[in-house]
Amino acid sequence: MAIQKVNIKGYRCLRCEHEWVPRLGKAPATCPNCRSPYWHKPIERHSVSEARKKVI
Ligand SMILES: [Zn+2]
Repeated sequence: MAIQKVNIKGYRCLRCEHEWVPRLGKAPATCPNCRSPYWHKPIERHSVSEARKKVI
């Protein structure tokens, strides 16, 4: 068991599923991983195919 999931307050990008903890205590404008400004918005239909790639 090398990696454990811990429950800490943070943000999760709904686009790339990247999770991070903010250091300044405020919501970032963009995802630090994929830099999407819509990281907090659910993925829409046109992006489903991309989301499916991750599952497989
Ligand atoms: Zn992202």
